[in-house]
Amino acid sequence: MSAIFSRRTVLALGAAAAGQWLLSSEAAQAAASKRRVVVWSEGSAPKNVYPKDINTAVAEGLKPLAGWEVVTASLADPDQGVPDALLNQTDVLVWWGHVRHRDVKDELVDRIVRRVKGEGMGFLALHSSHFSKALKKLLGTPCGFSAYVCDGSSVRVTVKQKDHPIAKGIEDFTLDKTERYSEPFQVPEPEAVVFDGVYHRPDGSTERSRQGLVWTVGKGKVFYFQPGHETYPHFFDENVRKILRNAVQWLAPRTR
Ligand code: ZN
Repeated sequence: MSAIFSRRTVLALGAAAAGQWLLSSEAAQAAASKRRVVVWSEGSAPKNVYPKDINTAVAEGLKPLAGWEVVTASLADPDQGVPDALLNQTDVLVWWGHVRHRDVKDELVDRIVRRVKGEGMGFLALHSSHFSKALKKLLGTPCGFSAYVCDGSSVRVTVKQKDHPIAKGIEDFTLDKTERYSEPFQVPEPEAVVFDGVYHRPDGSTERSRQGLVWTVGKGKVFYFQPGHETYPHFFDENVRKILRNAVQWLAPRTR
């Protein structure tokens, strides 16, 4: 704490008021020194699986991150949940959208892309956010898959790049039910496929599909993670939560 007010000021304020000012100033400094992750979702997930929507479930999983402030945001919030003042102080933006991509204003998408490309904010696109305007604009490709099938298949998520920070402490694991997104995934060649995956269909056949991919876009890093269909509780799964914690730390810009 630097002494930025004089003894005379303290006397004028009164000791109690000055003490309060000091405390609030320290709190403000502590908050400013923290990294910030904003977890955004569109508010369309079923309440029986996600009673407080997906943003809250993801945010709960990020809470153990030391030195991070975790903020939830929703499409229904003012400025679609991401006002300038918040976005400009965000290190990593986590995005889950599905049926309301078109409702997100182009102007907000442009601001997000600017923050990633020009200023190094990290962007984490979850599951159906493969079709979010922001990811499409960041990667510059259609970002579609060839098929989307919700037939009760399971997925074996395998760690493909074991030395990648996003894979730290993660062993191969299975999600009992998932929505199958079939390759090819129309994206640029990723810098790394951190997680690969194999679907096990109800008929016993299998299909490969990449589950976790990373790119650098301008000054920022981007991670796409495929699990997370809204009718399955993937964001309460401990492996998924650990991956997202690793990802948020890796996506953060080195400096602000
Ligand atoms: Zn889905």
